[in-house]
Amino acid sequence: MKNPIQLGLLLLTITALTVLGYNVYLREITPPVLTYTEFLAELRENNIEKIHLQGGVITGEDRAGRPFGTFAPDVSALIPLLQEKKVEISAEAQTESGAIDIFKSLLPLLLILGGWLIFSKKQSGGAFAHGSGRSTRFKPVESDLVTFKDVAGIAEVTEELQEVVEFLKKPEKYSRLGGRIPKGVLLQGAPGTGKTLLAKAIAGEASVAFFSMGGSDFVEIFAGVGASRVRELFVEAKKSAPCIIFIDEIDAIGGRRSGSSSSGSSDEREQTLNALLVEMDGFSSGETVIMIAATNRPDILDPALLRPGRFDRQITISLPDIKGRIKILEVHARKILASAEIDLEKIARSIPGFSGAEIANLVNEAALMAARRSKEAVEMDDFEEAKDKIIMGLARKSIVVSEKDRRITAYHEAGHAIVGLLLEETDPLHKITIIPRGRAMGLTQQLPLDERYTYSREYLQNRITTLLGGRTAETLVFNRLTTGASNDIIAATEIATRLICEWGMSEALGPIAYRQSVDGFLGSSTLVKPHSEMIARQIDVEIKQVIDTCSDEARAILKKHNKFLHKFAEALLINETMDAEEVDIVYRSYLKERELEQILTETRGNDDTCTQRNTNGI
Ligand code: ADP
Ligand code: ZN
Repeated sequence: MKNPIQLGLLLLTITALTVLGYNVYLREITPPVLTYTEFLAELRENNIEKIHLQGGVITGEDRAGRPFGTFAPDVSALIPLLQEKKVEISAEAQTESGAIDIFKSLLPLLLILGGWLIFSKKQSGGAFAHGSGRSTRFKPVESDLVTFKDVAGIAEVTEELQEVVEFLKKPEKYSRLGGRIPKGVLLQGAPGTGKTLLAKAIAGEASVAFFSMGGSDFVEIFAGVGASRVRELFVEAKKSAPCIIFIDEIDAIGGRRSGSSSSGSSDEREQTLNALLVEMDGFSSGETVIMIAATNRPDILDPALLRPGRFDRQITISLPDIKGRIKILEVHARKILASAEIDLEKIARSIPGFSGAEIANLVNEAALMAARRSKEAVEMDDFEEAKDKIIMGLARKSIVVSEKDRRITAYHEAGHAIVGLLLEETDPLHKITIIPRGRAMGLTQQLPLDERYTYSREYLQNRITTLLGGRTAETLVFNRLTTGASNDIIAATEIATRLICEWGMSEALGPIAYRQSVDGFLGSSTLVKPHSEMIARQIDVEIKQVIDTCSDEARAILKKHNKFLHKFAEALLINETMDAEEVDIVYRSYLKERELEQILTETRGNDDTCTQRNTNGI
């Protein structure tokens, strides 16, 4: 806003909008307007209780207490009649009317200017794109059309949120015993995973009002606007309690506060965030207002937002796996006229990595495709073509996972899982998936059985071996290296380095801390103990040795259990996500097969010796 002309236009717009807002406001509070004749008739009928005169404007109440308004051409002529009918009269000098008249005559011009300004800014996607145009912002949105039935494939999440619904329905029941009611729920997940849908569904299930706002709507160019908007939102919401306030993209305001040296815009953002925190802390448990926020960048949120009493409940929504995609397809296929031969499972299998929103889009595209071909019902080939069209769009944004990448990922994750499973001292397997998350293609999660405070050298070494299992499996099967293992390699190197330099677990170097991680005021940093060139070389050798040993071990395990690796990867390609139990099933079936094979080779071996003996005998 450095340009003075721009600034001038801006001021004009604000004025115009203020007048417009005032007019809307007036219209809202103005009681029914009578014509002067109607008013006179009412007056003669003795129906008027009291009036208030302001210039020619008359407002008042009838005998039943109902307000009305009218305009009198000549007030003084009216007074005798009013007195005769014993109407209570109050009056006020007309002072600002001149100014208002000028405003009124200027209004069209101002509106045009303002409209043009907003329009041109919208076109250029400037800071005005949000907000300023709206005069009535915070109105609850109709939400009771959406319920949990419309949200498919994330049963664990809806179950967890059922409690929030219960609470919104019967707040007394919960607060009676003094329990602290949840105030905020943070939904985290990739775009299109149904966060907004879920928030609406909660409001729908509980039949409460739903207020919705995008985080970026709060961030305006004027100082203090975002903060006052937050306050406004809470005032409105409290009036409609019980209700839900949904803030989409909360990272737009809730990003980490920078502390010092902030630029103007981040200053504004911080004020807005502070206002939000104050409001959240401010409402008492008596007010049934629940905040739901959505983000796909939980990592950049200000920790203050996540403290108890704020968004202390965090729920992650991941991209749907095969079962989830089938369920979501079912929900959306209900809305279209699908032919009987539609195979939803087959469709679901062909769209790995699709989000809920993309699936909804797919169904819609397929219906349009069928309509374009004047079909009676939507058929498989419509889905096929819709899918190709969408995938092509996504491929341009390079978010589609090719079949080959899926295979590599499956072997990679299976590699981690098998090594972790077959080594003795490791954390048990929790969940393994080849559905991409964030930048990771897949994920193998191990959960420590109990909180660990100290780690043995065995455990750490096995952790490194498990980390290297992914890359090792890839090279064993595909005989080529990919970048998919970069995070594993970073993590493995980090552990190996600390093993040698921090925890003194190297025999050659002994228990000397050559490096020290310090968790300090400004994040963590590393202190390095001064040491000789020779020691430096030795450290490098030791680290490499640890990594090499672990790498060899991973390789040995995966080579030995090669069949398990294939079996596991195939199972992953089909199921996409597997929990510990499912992994166990695959493992046991592998063991059984191996046993069988051993018996077979043994008997065959016995036969061989028999023949040999016989031959020898002969
Ligand atoms: P987000 O807020 O996470 O970006 P939305 O809630 O806006 O995602 O999802 C967009 C649309 O995608 C929804 O309106 C719905 O039609 C569809 N959708 C997403 N997830 C699901 C789901 N789990 N079940 C059914 N439909 C879904
Ligand atoms: Zn990995």
